[in-house]
Amino acid sequence: MVLIPFPNEHIYSYLYRCYRVHGVKAMKTIIDDKGRFKQRLALIDYKYVESFVPNIPDSSAGVWLLREPETNADRFLWWNRLLFPVMERSGFDRGGLFGPKSRAVLSGQVRAPGLKVGTKWVNCPEEIRYCPCCVRDLIYNHGTAYLLADWLGPSAVCKQHSIKLSVVNAQSRSEAIAALERIFLGEATPSPIVSTDDCAPILSERLAS
Ligand SMILES: [Zn+2]
Repeated sequence: MVLIPFPNEHIYSYLYRCYRVHGVKAMKTIIDDKGRFKQRLALIDYKYVESFVPNIPDSSAGVWLLREPETNADRFLWWNRLLFPVMERSGFDRGGLFGPKSRAVLSGQVRAPGLKVGTKWVNCPEEIRYCPCCVRDLIYNHGTAYLLADWLGPSAVCKQHSIKLSVVNAQSRSEAIAALERIFLGEATPSPIVSTDDCAPILSERLAS
């Protein structure tokens, strides 16, 4: 099952969801042993991503058709259409990222397929930050929580709600994963800055647009 990135979702959030949904035990590729998002998503082995990388054609109409892919751009929908935009808005370069069947991989120029990205403005490493009010609104609007690209880098305040972002005080990878579980369920982590009881009324995208 291919997971579509949500609007403005960041790459750690997207990969976390992919791993969870597919039961891939690879959180160490995105969370370091101090419980923070990794500085570099260096060379995530293809075995961790293959379960959610489709090798199905993409059509220009945006409809997936069961036909033979005609071009390389057709073949790698997940890489080209889904992952690259998520990487770029998360502050990573796409220059070092190669699909499993890219020429660089097949010719042996890169060691293994996977994610190999350099940092731009991403902090090194990244604390896990979130806005409890946004999380509540995302669950309301999308049926699930996720983490926004705006919460990476130097940002400390939610642009939508003008409140300080909550920072997960995890000491280990397992604590960070437990905290992410709670965030994605819309529950407060042990160190929320605000309670969802203090959030403004839900901002519905449908009503706002
Ligand atoms: Zn917010």
